[in-house]
Parts: sequence; C-alpha cells; structure tokens
Amino acid sequence: MRPIRTFNVSPSLPPQLEALRKLAYNLHWDWNVDTKDLFRRLDLDLWESSRHNPVLMLGTISQQRLQEAAEDEGFLAQMERASRQLDEYLQERMWYRKHRKQPALVHDRTASQECYAYFSAEFGLADCLPIYSGGLGILAGDHLKSASDLGLPLVGVGLLYQEGYFAQYLNADGWQQERYPINDFYNMPLYLERNPDGSELRLEVSYPGRVVYARVWRVQVGTVPLYLLDTNIEPNNPYDHDITDELYGGDIDMRIDQEIMLGIGGMQMLKALGLNPTVCHMNEGHSAFLVLERIWTMMAEHDLSFAEARQLARASQIFTTHTPVPAGIDLFPPDKVMHSVGHYADRFGLSREQFLALGRENTGDLAAPFSMAVLAIKMANFVNGVSQLHGLVSQKMFSPLWADLPVNEVPISAITNGVHARSCVAKPTQELYDRYLGPSWSDAPADHPLWERVKSIPDEELWRNHERCRSELVMFVRERLQRTLRDRGASPTEIIQAAEVLDPTVLTIGFARRFATYKRATLFLRDLTRIRKILLDMGHVKRPFPHKKQMVQFVISGKAHPKDIPGKELIRDIVHFTREEGINAHVVYIPDYDIHVSRLMVAGCDIWLNTPRRPREASGTSGMKAAMNGLLNLSIPDGWWDEADYVRTGWAIGQGEDYEDPTYQDDVEANALYDLLEQAVVPLFYDRGDDDLPRGWVAKMKDAIRLNCPRFNTARMVGEYATRGYFPASDRYLVLTSNQYAPARELALWKAKVMEQWYSIKILNVDVSQPADIHVNQTVTVKTQIHLAALTPTDVEVQLYQGAVDASGEIVNGVPSVMQYQGTDQQGNQIYLGELAYSSSGLQGLSLRVIPKHEHLGSPYGMGLVIWATP
Ligand SMILES: *Cc1c(COP(=O)(O)O)cnc(C)c1O
Repeated sequence: MRPIRTFNVSPSLPPQLEALRKLAYNLHWDWNVDTKDLFRRLDLDLWESSRHNPVLMLGTISQQRLQEAAEDEGFLAQMERASRQLDEYLQERMWYRKHRKQPALVHDRTASQECYAYFSAEFGLADCLPIYSGGLGILAGDHLKSASDLGLPLVGVGLLYQEGYFAQYLNADGWQQERYPINDFYNMPLYLERNPDGSELRLEVSYPGRVVYARVWRVQVGTVPLYLLDTNIEPNNPYDHDITDELYGGDIDMRIDQEIMLGIGGMQMLKALGLNPTVCHMNEGHSAFLVLERIWTMMAEHDLSFAEARQLARASQIFTTHTPVPAGIDLFPPDKVMHSVGHYADRFGLSREQFLALGRENTGDLAAPFSMAVLAIKMANFVNGVSQLHGLVSQKMFSPLWADLPVNEVPISAITNGVHARSCVAKPTQELYDRYLGPSWSDAPADHPLWERVKSIPDEELWRNHERCRSELVMFVRERLQRTLRDRGASPTEIIQAAEVLDPTVLTIGFARRFATYKRATLFLRDLTRIRKILLDMGHVKRPFPHKKQMVQFVISGKAHPKDIPGKELIRDIVHFTREEGINAHVVYIPDYDIHVSRLMVAGCDIWLNTPRRPREASGTSGMKAAMNGLLNLSIPDGWWDEADYVRTGWAIGQGEDYEDPTYQDDVEANALYDLLEQAVVPLFYDRGDDDLPRGWVAKMKDAIRLNCPRFNTARMVGEYATRGYFPASDRYLVLTSNQYAPARELALWKAKVMEQWYSIKILNVDVSQPADIHVNQTVTVKTQIHLAALTPTDVEVQLYQGAVDASGEIVNGVPSVMQYQGTDQQGNQIYLGELAYSSSGLQGLSLRVIPKHEHLGSPYGMGLVIWATP
C-alpha cells in the first residue's frame, strides 16, 4: 500500500533529556567513550539491537525508560558531562589555528574562506552507517574524524547508498551468501538538507537525454560535515533511483552513472550549499569527473578560457591513489565516456580526442580506454600513494605519464595511511592510556615525551587489561556463532559446541580483511601437519602452571566481493578445513565482518597476521589498529609494515623478496610463518614468570604502542595532508584567483608560451673542467651554453644531475643541483655555471637538464617537460 502522505516523526524526549538529541546526531559519540557509554547505559539491549544507532534507539525506546532516565541523577550528570564535552570539542580548532599561516600574497581574503572538499565513494564512520566496503572507506571515515580533531575547514562528499554494502552469512557448506539490508535514512544520524523555506534541497544533474534529481543528507562528524547524495526520489525513473542504491554495484553503465553523481553532482551540491572549495581532494579515482564540472564552473562564472580554468583547477586539486596494480584502476570505454560526459568537450572547445586524452596515458592510442586515475593525476598538483613502498610502486606504475623523467622523480609522493586512535582502541585500553600517558596521547606526535611514559605502565595492569579484551572477544565470538547457527537452523549439538569455542587464555591470532586472493587468507593452512602441531601440540608451559599446554587459536573474519568466486572459495576452504580436522573450536570464522567485529578483534587478539603477496597491499590499516591496542604484528613486510619497526613491534615474514613463481613463494613464506610461530611467537607468549606474566611479550606490546601509535595515526596523516597538500594548494588557489583571476590568466599564458617554445631549447655545449679520473670530493666545474628560443632565464631552471651509474649505463637516483645564470654571450645564448663533487667513489655519472620554472607551478616536474643534454 503506498501512503497518500508521509511524515518524518522525530522522537519525543522529556525536556530534561533534550541534550541526547544533539549528542545522537553528532558522530562524535563514536569516538567519545563517555557519550557511547551514556547510550549503552540508556538501554543496553536496544543499543546492541540497533547496531549502535542512537537515533534509532531514541526513536524506539519506551517512554517509560525515558522517564526513568529523566529522573536518574547519575544518568543526567553523565549526560551533562557528555554534552559539555561535545560543546567544548566543537569550539577547539587548536591544530589548524597553530599551523595555518595566512597566504602571504593575499590581502583581500582570509584563510577562514578556505574549504577543502574531500571526495570518496565510500565512508566507514560507524557501525550504524553501512556505506563502506572496506579499507578505503574506513580510511575516508578516519580522515574526516581527524580533520575534525585538528579543526580543518574540511567537508566530505559522497553518496548515500540505499542498500550499502552487503551483509554476509554462510550457508551450511561454508559458501558466502549476501543480504542487502535497506538503510532507513530517517532513523539514522542524518540531517536532510533544506532550502531556507523548509523545502528539500534538490539538485538537477545532467545525464545523457535527461536530468537526474538528487537530495542531500548530512552526517555531522564532529566539526566536519559529510554531505551525501541520494537519487532515490521522485520523479527520477526507476533506473536513476538506483544510482545511489548499491556501493560498487551494477554494471559498467551504472558505475559511470554513480561516478558522475559523485564527481559532477558533488560539485553542484557544494555550490548549492554555498560552498566554494579552495581545494578538492580525490580519494581514489571514482570522483575524478569533479574536475570537469569544476573547470566548467570556473569558465562560466569568471569568464576564463579552458586553459586558464584548467591551470586553476589543477593547482588546487589533490589525488590519492590506493591501487598498486593496473587491474585495480577504473577504466571506461571511450564511447561511453563521450556519451556520458562528452558535452564537456563542447563546453571546453576540445575535440573528441583532445578530451579523451585527459584520461589516457598514451594520448596517441585512440583505442585506449579512459582511466579515471589518469584523469585525476593529470588534474592534480599533488599526487600520493598510501605508504612509502606504495609511493615507489605508483611512481613506477604511472611513469609512462612522465616519459622524460627518471622514475624516482615522477611527481608522486607518499603519505602513509593511519587510523583514528579514539575509534579503534578499546575503551578500557583508552582509559588506561589516559591514566598513564595523559589524554592527549591520541594525537600526540612521535617526538612527544608522553610516549616514554608507556614504559611506566605496570606490566601487570597492561596484561590484565589485554586479557580482559581477549575474554570479551571470545564471549562475542561464541554469541555470534550461536546466533548464526540458530538462524541457519543448525542442530542443538552444534549450537552447544559453539558456546565453547576458543579459550580465553590461549595465544590468539587474528586475521580479518577482505577475502581477495592476493591476501592469501589460507596461507597458514598450507602444511596441515605443521599447523595442526602448532595449534594443538607445542608442548607444555614451564611455569607457573606446568599442566597447561602451549596452544594457539585463530579468529578469522572478512567478506569476499560478491562476484569474487576464488575469494569465496577461500572462506569455504577454511570452514571445510576446520570441520574435517575437527578443530573448529581452535580456528573460528566469524561471519559478517564490519567495524564492530574489527574493533573487538584488533583489541582481543594477541597477534595480527597479514600475508599479502608483496607489493599488493598498498598500505593495510587493520594492523595499525591492532598495534595501537598493543597487539604484535606478524606480517609480510608490505604496505605500512614495510616501514614500521618490525623487529621491536612484531615479526616480519621474509625480507620483502620478489618471487617469479607464486607456488614457490607460497611454500617459502608459509614455512617462514611456521618457523616464526614455532621458534619465536609461541615460546615468547608462554614464557611466564611465577606471576604468570609474559614479561618479554609485554615489553614488545609496549614498544608496539609507543612506536606505532603516534606514527600510524590519522592525526599525523591528516596533518601531513594539510601541510603538504591542502595549505599549499589552497594558497595557490587564493593567489591565482586574487586580482580578478589575473595570476591564473598569466599562468595559462605562460604555460602556453613554454609549451610552444620548449622543443626549440637547445643545450649547445657542456664544458667540464676535469678529466675522467677524479677523487672523492674534488670540485668539478661545469659551464654550459643554452639556446632558450623565445624563453628567458626566468622561465627555466638549468640543473646539473649527478649520481652513480648502474650496469645498464643509467644514472640511478640522480640528484639535481641548480646552475647559476651568468649572462648572455654574443650570439644571444645563455651561459650557466655550476660546481659539483662526488661524495663516493666508483663509476659516477653527470648530466645536465633544463626544466620549466614558475612561482605558481607547484611541482616543477608536473608539466613533464625536461630537456636533457645528449651524450
Ligand atoms: C580497518 C578495516 C578494514 C581495512 O583493513 P585492511 O587491513 O586495510 O585490509 C576493512 N574493514 C573494516 C571493517 C575495518 O575496520
């Protein structure tokens, strides 16, 4: 029955409890232990059954319980405290105030007009907002939380999925099934954005042959608003209703339509909200169409040419890539792109091929698909990978875009991912850190003296706290297993057995992540005899309970993508293995991995295991969450673990070798894993004193906390994005748009001139003062004569380029140094002089090059223009 009218009915709270509404609608409750506690205290059962959704809870709680709470002085006091904490939190913008300096050149604007727009296809913020699928989304969610903590003027842009990502359950055979619960937006912490007259704010986004309408919801993440688009409204046709239906759902047409909504719709939405971003940050390539709309708006509103608007847009856009393999990149067929967004080519005055070239690595290949990552890279002034290793891999992967540059100078840098400490550290552990380190531990930098105080936490207290977390995990696993068995109609015996799985005192290894094949979830099962022995038969402990056995248990969780059959087979293999071997009390798979399961696992396991095929794990973040809780990582040195102190804070499996043969690699690395478990991990865990404390283990836990907490933290990460990305990009935007956009116009003119003249530049001769045999630190003087065509010495930089020569005769990891301009000779050529010396012996190379130079250019390599001296 369709209703003739709908109402949005909000909970009626007794006046004394009005503060609960404000608390429920700001996701700050997710990372504030007091507020979370308050909701739990209000009604524990409802809190759990609502998936930790305070809005739904307030909407369904009984009036009687509300009355009780309104008369409970203890409750009211806690509510007042939480409310005050939120108010204070919203006032603080300490980090931003302290670190942001006004752009020097701009007098008529202030930094308060800054707005950094962060675009992502998914956001993982809280259990009750299932609009994420995995690591990318959690990272985006943590980015917003830390941006709020630091007080950045940042807004998030995304899509509000009606079905979100699937919920997982297993059939009796261990085969993954998917269910798509419907998100009820009216009972979630979401505000519907409205016009001043109270009507719904509506966008009209152009699609081929039609307009698609979207409305806007807001999630308040501390001080940061996250705006989400929703097309599931009338009068959209049924297909368009579904554009925001399912995260990564549908076919390629649906994918492109979603990305149009995210990028183009997202820009239109910001405008409708009165926001003019000075920086746009693309978290992965899904949102890259935003550059088209942004350029077009600049052209239309400020009478800029395409070239001018493009410079301005590019100067203030940032792109973060998350994929270490070409197969992970979003590609669209050229015809589809022209069909869907080809009208921008007309607006820009570009031919079909000129337009498609924006998304092509090889612009001469007219059959090549259109890559969203390439579009994003070409339209960004700051591009980064998500760990140091991934930065290097990305430089190599995208090096064809900068054919004239050595790989190590490809302008892609790295900002290592992090996690939001207050969101991933268990409550009692946070309270322990608050007590011993002080409350600022959650975003204190690595050089802060408080980290030394980790050593002063009594071993006993840290260990007992950890054991409590492990017990809590075991209880949770037992309950969830029983529930899923009951739902599946399993036998009473099975359900009773499920109540006894795992042992809260046994060394617990956690493995939880997406079940993609490269993550090799079943590597630990490669040698069944050996793993059986490790699980059940490693002998007895020496002290203080010699009758106790040194056992090991595994807790495993994670979903496979619905279309990933090999991924689903991995899950089934684990289920079958545990059944056939009769060890399903020791190796347990928890269905329906999500933020809640993750938080319990990264707190309650002892070891966090990760076995990706290097270098496929761009960063990985669950291991960081584990480390912050004091877990030790046991991983292939890939992604973040490759740059962590893996000697003191865990163990590395192998030394980061590359293998040609994957089967051989699996054998070697599985054996390395078994060796570590048998010889290092298990003995250290069960090496107890008479007080039953594993002192060696606890010392390692403390190192894990002390060394990893400050480093792999989104406070550090977002701070880096701000100082290296947002501030300079926003400054460029403010400068280029000052004085009626005169600097932007000038920059475009200058670029056109440089492009036109570039290949007329000639390095005429190079005079080197010394012969081929020289000593370390001996000064070599180099003089060169350069023909700059119609350019002037202010347009270019001339550099010496020196470094060791490898076996193939190339300079590797060359270092540039600037040559000094000396003047013009009689023929009108420019003379440059430079000096160098080599600090190490061996075969060393020297070259010389010219690159463009302009104060608003950002990276000098961004244009990809380099003239090298020819040997
Ligand atoms: C942290 C987290 C992830 C990402 O973990 P990786 O180690 O990066 O694979 C995925 N899903 C959930 C629910 C998480 O909490």
